[in-house]
This record gives sequence, structure tokens and C-alpha cells, in this order.
Amino acid sequence: MLELRRISAGYTGAAVLHDVDLIVPAGSTVALLGPNGAGKTTLLRVAGGTLRPMRGQILVDGSDVTGRQPHDLVRYGVCTVPEGRAVFPNLSVRENLTLFADGHSSALDLAVEAFPTLGRRMNQRAGSMSGGEQQMVALARAYLQNPRLVLLDEVSMGLAPVVVDEVFEFLATVRERGASLLLVEQYVGKALALADYVVLLARGRVQFVGEPQELDEEKIFSSYAGLE
Ligand code: ATP
Repeated sequence: MLELRRISAGYTGAAVLHDVDLIVPAGSTVALLGPNGAGKTTLLRVAGGTLRPMRGQILVDGSDVTGRQPHDLVRYGVCTVPEGRAVFPNLSVRENLTLFADGHSSALDLAVEAFPTLGRRMNQRAGSMSGGEQQMVALARAYLQNPRLVLLDEVSMGLAPVVVDEVFEFLATVRERGASLLLVEQYVGKALALADYVVLLARGRVQFVGEPQELDEEKIFSSYAGLE
């Protein structure tokens, strides 16, 4: 589905990612782990088209999409849920959701089923919702775009534990329906439970790629502690 080939990327000339190779096979979920500053958000920005890599190639289903803007990538089924509250504050919840939906009422039903709060607050101004509720809107909106690959950057950040559980249940449903997920998560255990593969990044380089069960504590510890 997604292939990053030898990606180097960064800001104002300084590379943060060095020769990163990463594959998200169709229908699979990849957890991207690593210490603070490792380059996880930068990698998601490159994959989502908001940051152009300095070197390397981005392929979606074999097509070279390097340099494409996020709205172009949506046409390839690639959709980003960024960190923070990515809603239009002055639009209602309903407007936020239907702005991007192309008439998938079953997708709307599913989103409301996953987050019953949204169903009760369809007419509320999104900017007046709590942080957790706004995150539900952002997730539901991504799903309504009928994505084939969803890029998720710490979507559970700052949420109450019960909402975190709802978010992960929702992601599991999206995954079951065939979408691929690439996620950066502070809840490592929950991310690993969802993931088919895990990629460990440290100092902008891939340290480990494998299945979650292959990842022992020692590997995580040496990446998180030894390399900062
Ligand atoms: P965290 O877990 O702390 O969110 P991360 O792995 O997501 O970290 P990035 O946010 O990708 O890491 O940051 C990697 C490096 O790039 C850091 O040193 C950071 O300071 C730098 N960086 C990130 N965004 C910018 C920017 N817009 N301009 C300049 N440097 C940046």
C-alpha cells in the first residue's frame, strides 16, 4: 500500500530522517515507535504529503507520489489524522463530518456507533466540544473519507482513559474493514496489540522492523534509553 524508499527529510536543511525504508502492506497496521525527537511525526508528515523529503521516494500502490500535496494523496486513499484538535471550530459536528464525506451514510452510522457522544451532539459547534470529543470528530471525519491508509499521530494524546479505549476500538473497526493504519502512539501496549508490524525509529534511523511479538523489552529499552 505505502512504501517509503530511502527517505531523508528534515527542516531548513538539517536532516531528521536518514535513509528510512518503511513498508505498510495493504490491509495491515504498522506501529511506529521511538523516543522523543526520533522523527516519528516527521515521517508521518512525509507520508501524508505535508513535508517534502530531501531525498527518497514515496510510493502508493506502486505509483510514485513523492512531492504530492495532502489533497492529492486523499485521491490515493491516504488520509492523515494529525496531532491535536484538527476540526473546523466554527462548523457544527455534522458539518465537520459531512464536509468531506461522499455520501457514505453507513460510514456515518459506524462513526456514531463508535462514538455515541457525536450522535448526541451533531448540531453543537465543534470548537465548543471537549478535547476528547474534538478528537473523535477528527477520527470520524478521516473514516468518512473512505481511506485506504490512515496516518495517525498520537491521536490518544491527552484523552481520558475511557475515551482512549473508544478510540482504539474504533481503530480496530477501521482496520477490520480493510484499511491500513500507520500509527504513532504513546500507549505502546495498545499500539502493539493492534499492530501487525512494528517499526522502531531512533535518531531518524530505523532500528528494528518486525512483528510485535519479536520486539522484546531489551530492544525497546536500548532504542529509547541508549540512543537519546
Ligand atoms: P515526539 O515523540 O517528541 O513527538 P517525534 O519522534 O515525533 O518526537 P519529530 O517531531 O519528528 O519527532 O521531531 C524530530 C526532530 O525534528 C526534533 O529534533 C524536532 O525538534 C525537529 N523538528 C520537528 N518539527 C520541526 C520544525 N517544524 N522545524 C524544525 N525542526 C523541527
